[in-house]
Amino acid sequence: MAQETMSFQAEVKQLLQLMIHSLYSNKEIFLRELISNASDAADKLRFEAIADSTLFETDPNLRIRVSYDKAARTIRIDDNGIGMSREETISHLGTIARSGTKEFFSKLSGDQQKDAALIGQFGVGFYSGFIVADKITVETRRAGLPAAEGVRWVSAGEGDFAVETIERAQRGTTITLHLREGEDELLSSYRLKSIIQKYSDHVALPILMKKEEWDQEKGEMVEKDEDETVNQASALWTRPKNDITDEQYKQFYQHLAHDHQDPLTWTHNRVEGRSEYTQLLYVPAHAPFDLWNRDHRAGLKLYVKRVFIMDDAEQLLPMYLRFIKGVVDSSDLPLNVSREILQESRDVKAIREGVTKRALSMLEELANAETDEGKAQYASFWTEFGQVLKEGLGEDFANRDRIAKLVRFASTHNDTSEQNVSLADYVARMKPEQSKIYYVTADTWQAAKNSPHLEVFRKKGVEVLLLTDRVDEWALSSFTEFDGKPLASVARGDLDLGALNDEEKKAQEEVGETMKPLIEKMKEALKDKAKDVRLTFRLTDSPSCLVADDGEMSGYLQRMLKAAGQ
Ligand code: ADP
Ligand code: MG
Repeated sequence: MAQETMSFQAEVKQLLQLMIHSLYSNKEIFLRELISNASDAADKLRFEAIADSTLFETDPNLRIRVSYDKAARTIRIDDNGIGMSREETISHLGTIARSGTKEFFSKLSGDQQKDAALIGQFGVGFYSGFIVADKITVETRRAGLPAAEGVRWVSAGEGDFAVETIERAQRGTTITLHLREGEDELLSSYRLKSIIQKYSDHVALPILMKKEEWDQEKGEMVEKDEDETVNQASALWTRPKNDITDEQYKQFYQHLAHDHQDPLTWTHNRVEGRSEYTQLLYVPAHAPFDLWNRDHRAGLKLYVKRVFIMDDAEQLLPMYLRFIKGVVDSSDLPLNVSREILQESRDVKAIREGVTKRALSMLEELANAETDEGKAQYASFWTEFGQVLKEGLGEDFANRDRIAKLVRFASTHNDTSEQNVSLADYVARMKPEQSKIYYVTADTWQAAKNSPHLEVFRKKGVEVLLLTDRVDEWALSSFTEFDGKPLASVARGDLDLGALNDEEKKAQEEVGETMKPLIEKMKEALKDKAKDVRLTFRLTDSPSCLVADDGEMSGYLQRMLKAAGQ
C-alpha cells in the first residue's frame, strides 16, 4: 500500500506540545518509556504464544537491543516482541485510547510544574521520544503476519504522521530516534548504559548493547562485534530481598505504576503453603487523578510463573484497597487463566485474602510509626487514601477490626478539620462513666462542629467525632462497635447519655411535668410537619433542633440520597 499521511488525534497533539516543554528537565525518561514498551511487547508475545507457539517463529529468545549511530545522530531501540499490524500502528501511535483521557486534559492548569506532575501520572509513553527527537521512525511487523506486511511509521511529532507497508523479515519493533540539535551527549555507550541501569535495571528480559573498547590508533571507543547485557535481566520480585536496593524497588514502582514519584512504602514476600505466590505491594504517595473514576484501573499485575497474564487483576484485591499497586506471581494458577476463571478460582480467593492481610500489615506498620517522619507519612497516606480505606469498614467484615484501628477522624478534641484521631485515642480519653463513642455527621467540618447536637457534650466535656466524608454514614451503618463500645450518633432521637446524666435526671423529670401543656400545644401546631415534639436537655444555647428516630435515615443521608436523585 502506498504511503498515507494522517493527522494525530487532537489530544495527542496537545500531549506532545505539553510533554516536550514540561518534561525537558527530565528528558532521560524517554528511554525508560521505550524500553518499557518493548518489555510489554515481549510479555504480550509470551502470553499469545501460550495458545499458539508458532508465533515465536524461529526467534524464541526475547530481548531488547539498544544502539546508537554517532554519524547519523540516531538512537535505536529494537525488540522481537509482538510487533504491530498496520491498523494497530495507526491506532496505537496516533490516538490515546486510555481511560480517563478526557479527565486528564480537563485537569491541566497551564502551570508547567503542576502539569508535568499530572503528565507523569498519566503516563508519558511512546510520545516521550519526541522530547529528544525531532523525527521518529518506527518499523514493525506483527508476530504471525508475513514479511510483506511490515509497517513503517514516520513522524516529526507535530500535526501528522506517515505510514506505509514495507517488507520486514524480523518480527517485532525497531524505533529510531533522530535526535534534536544539541542532544549529541546521548550518543555515548556510557551515557545510555547509565540511563538504562538507573531506570530499567528491573526489566525482566535482557537489554543488550554492543561492547566497546578503546582503539589506540583512532583515539576513541570503537564497537566490538560482541553483545553485553546491561541490566540485571531477572524479574525484580523473583530476586531475594537482600539483593534489591531501595532505589531498585522505587524504580520498579515507577515503571509499574506509571508514576514519576517514589512510593510511600512497600512490602515484598513469598507465600508458601496451600497456595504459593510472590507478592510485591506498594502504597503510592499520591492518589491518581482518576481514583474516583468509575473505570479507574485498579488491582495488581498478575503473573503466572513469571509469565505476564494481565494488568489490573481486580479480583486480587478488595475495592477498598484499590490504591495499592503491585505484582502477584502465582505458582498454582494455569497459564491460560481468564478474568472469568479468576472470579471462581479458589486459589485466587486464597491469594486475595493473603494480599489483603499483607496490605493491612503494611498500613499498620505505617500507622504505628513512632518517628515524626513516620507520623507525617501516615497523615499524608490518610489524606490521599483515607476515604477509600474507610469503605472497608462496610465491605470487609473479616478484617473490620484491623481496618477500624487504621481509620482516623476529626474530633472535637483537637478542634481542627484534620483527620488524625484514631478510635483508640478516643477510647483512651473517654470519661469513666461514658459507655459510647459519640459522633456527628454533616456535609462539612464547619457544619459538624457547629451542630446544636454537640452542646450538651461540650458542656460535659465529652469528645465527639466529626464525620464529614461521603462514605462515613455508609461505613457506619454497618460498623457499630469498637473495642466493645457502641458507636452512637448524637443526632439520634432518644439520646441516652447513660451514667453521664444520672445526677441531673431527677431535676429534669420535675421540669418535664411543668412543661407538658406547652409540648402538647406544640405537637398540635406542628402535627403535619413533625412526627413528635419532645422536651430535651441536650441543648445549651439553641432553643430547638431536629432529630431522626432510631432506625431512621439521618438528615445527612436523606439529603445525600436526594442529591443523588433517589
Ligand atoms: P502504554 O504503554 O501506556 O499503553 P504508550 O504510549 O507507551 O502507552 O504506547 C502506546 C501503545 O503503542 C502501546 O499500548 C502498544 O500497543 C503500542 N506500542 C508501543 N511500543 C510498542 C512496541 N515496541 N511493540 C509493540 N507495540 C508497541
Ligand atoms: Mg508505554
